[in-house]
This record gives sequence, C-alpha cells and structure tokens, in this order.
Amino acid sequence: MKTALEQYDPQIYELIRQEEARQSGSIRLIPSENYVSRAVMMASSSCLTNKYAEGYPGKRYYEGQQVTDLIEKLAQDRAKKLFKADHANVQPYSGSVANLAAYAALIQPGDTIMGMSLSHGGHLTHGWKVSLTSKYYKSVSYEVNTETGRLDFDAIRDLAKKHRPKIIISGATAYPRTIDFDVFGEIAQEVGAFLISDIAHIAGLVVAGIHKSPVPYADVVSTTTHKTLRGPRGGMLLCKAEHAEKVDKAVFPGLQGGPHMHTLTAIAVAMAEADTPEFVAYAQQVVKNAKALADKLLEYGFNLVTGGTDNHLMLIDLRNKDIPGKKLAKALDRARIVTNYNTVPGDPAPPFNPSGLRLGTPAITTRGMRESEAEQIATFIHRVTENIDKESIIEQVGKEVLLLCSQFPVPEHFIIPQRNGYRG
Ligand SMILES: *Cc1c(COP(=O)(O)O)cnc(C)c1O
Repeated sequence: MKTALEQYDPQIYELIRQEEARQSGSIRLIPSENYVSRAVMMASSSCLTNKYAEGYPGKRYYEGQQVTDLIEKLAQDRAKKLFKADHANVQPYSGSVANLAAYAALIQPGDTIMGMSLSHGGHLTHGWKVSLTSKYYKSVSYEVNTETGRLDFDAIRDLAKKHRPKIIISGATAYPRTIDFDVFGEIAQEVGAFLISDIAHIAGLVVAGIHKSPVPYADVVSTTTHKTLRGPRGGMLLCKAEHAEKVDKAVFPGLQGGPHMHTLTAIAVAMAEADTPEFVAYAQQVVKNAKALADKLLEYGFNLVTGGTDNHLMLIDLRNKDIPGKKLAKALDRARIVTNYNTVPGDPAPPFNPSGLRLGTPAITTRGMRESEAEQIATFIHRVTENIDKESIIEQVGKEVLLLCSQFPVPEHFIIPQRNGYRG
C-alpha cells in the first residue's frame, strides 16, 4: 500500500524523502535550526490546519471553535507558566511578525527604535536598513565593541540619551554571550523607552533557567518557537498585563488574519515538552556542547568572536585563516557539515562574502551528541579548513560525518508514515 502522498504526488514525496535523508545524514550546526519531536510534528500536520479561528478564545468571528478555543487557551497557559509571564500571545506567524506586532503595540510610525546592528549580531527586524522596520520607524543601531566583541553598555546608554528612542530592542541573532537584560531595562527606564527583548535564539535556554530571563525587565518579550525552544515554526509574544490588550490587537487584527491553528497546536505540545526535566537537561547539554566545540576550535587556532561562548552559538572570525566564510561554509557542506557564513563585528569584507562562520549546537544536542562528539566535529572542521582545496580529503571527512550521524538518529519523522501508519 502506498501512502496518500506517494500516490498523489510522487515528485514531492520523493523530494521530502531526499530532504529527510539530507537532514539525518548531515551535521546541523546552524544555531537557529533544530529537530522537533514526533509529537510536535504530528500536531503540526494535524486537521487543525483546516480551521479558521480569527480572533481570540471566546471572541471569534467564525463558528465551530469548540476545540480551537481550548487548544489556544492551553497554549497560552503553558507559555505563561513556562516563561512566568502575565500574558502570552501565541498567534504570530513567525519571529519577524512578532517583532512588528510588538512595535505596533507600543509606538507610532515615525517614532524612533534602537536595536542592535545586523552586522554586529542583531536581526533584520531590529531596524536594519533593508527591513520595513527602518522605513516605518526612525532607526538607530547600537554596535558591539569591535575589540572585545561584547555589548558596551556605556556606549549604548550614550546613544540612547542622544536619540531618545521610544523602544530599545535587546536581543540578537549572532551574539555568543549572555545578554544583561536588566541593564537594558535600566537604560530604557533612564530615557523613558519601552524595552523589547527578542529571545528568538535563546528562548530554550531561558525556560531552562540557563540564561537570565528578560520577563521581569521587558515590557514585551518576543520569541520564535522553533530555535532552541524546539517547537514548530512560529512566533510568540509575552508581556506585562498592562500591555496585553494592545499586544493582542496589534497581532490581530493589526497584522494578521487567521492564526495557523495547526502551528498553535504544536506550540502547545512544545511548551509541555519544554516544561520537563528532560528539556532542562537538553538545554544544559546544548551549552556544554557549545563550550566543548569552542574550546577545541580555539586549540586548533581558530579565532572566536569574544574568545568563546556562554550560550548555544559561536562566531569564528576566519581572517587569520585567510579563507572567506562562504568558501569554508560551502566546503563544510560538501563534507556534510551544515553551517552559515556570517559577518563578524567590524568586518572589512562585504556582507555577501563575510569573514565569519556561525555555529551552534542545539540540533546536534537533540540528536543525543555530547562533548566528545562536539570535539570530533571541531576536528572535522579543522581538517576541512586545512584542506580547503583538497576535494578527496573533504570527501573522506564527509564519510566520517555520515558514520557519526548514523549513530545519532534524528527524531522519527511523521510526514512519511510507516506502512501500517495513518494513510489519509
Ligand atoms: C530568527 C530571529 C527572528 C525572526 O524569526 P523568523 O521566524 O525567521 O521570522 C527574529 N529575531 C531574532 C533575534 C532571530 O534570531
């Protein structure tokens, strides 16, 4: 018996099979990626994808919400408990939309926002010049100290005093150290700004108590659900009670139509998973693995921005190796090690061919890898770097990577069910 997908769309079926093979046969070091559990996968491919639920529980615009109201309420309650927040909105389609909604809830177009420069580790939606956020709002960017690679709070305070932003955004997409949300909170208070903390990357570390939570300091906390938090692809906003109504209105009807109920259902599952001792152990191991990977890379003579990592990611500054980030990322990909090239603070190279490589350990940790595998991966990276133009050696590393992958299977997939499973 063939599955429905195999029967109706053999082309897509085959491509999904190929992607499954690629994901399980390569080492995923992109710090924003992970593998969801079978339970999350099941919820996100469930019949909830068929339901429109514009509005919020108890205040919908279509009938037939007997079940959706219960699911959304569960997702909200679980998120509030997990993050110890007054209010949770679980509808944003992604982290980017969540950020837009947070701004729309608190300020007017034309007001000033101040976030971290993209080339220093911030996100596009923190007011970067090609993003709509810099066209709707006046945008000021703070940077890290290019010598230390770290946030410089004196400089950030001075910039805030000079420009008096209405919103300060704390949070990053490529920053390897702990972020002092409390200090950001003080600066925001000094200049009369709202504080938004974007924990898209570190949410899993925050709920596990490994990274300081911004919830006590920020007016609004924005996050994705699919990075270290290990849920389906989505976004979420947490806020103080006083902002709850404005935040909800900004998401719907401000920015979105019907919430993706299948995603929201899977978010509820992921929140339950994150509220377990197993998840805390995973998050602790993510950080231990990052440290092991970083230490070994340093031994091999790689330069790391800030000299190491406190969290799940690190940035290699490749200038001393004389290899552009893109060239190494492509060679590593041929050796089945998937990374992304990245700018480093103060990068003299152009952004489409920057000097850095960004690595993270959430996905390998989900597969069960520990410090010794992280060190082995550092050795693979070293060998590819030293033999960047020797294709036979890169191929040999790829074979060893495949062997390592076979010992650490990814969570079982749902989309291509077993013969005796659901057939639709
Ligand atoms: C990933 C990320 C986002 C955006 O998330 P998408 O779901 O890709 O829209 C926002 N902010 C930060 C800091 C991120 O790392």
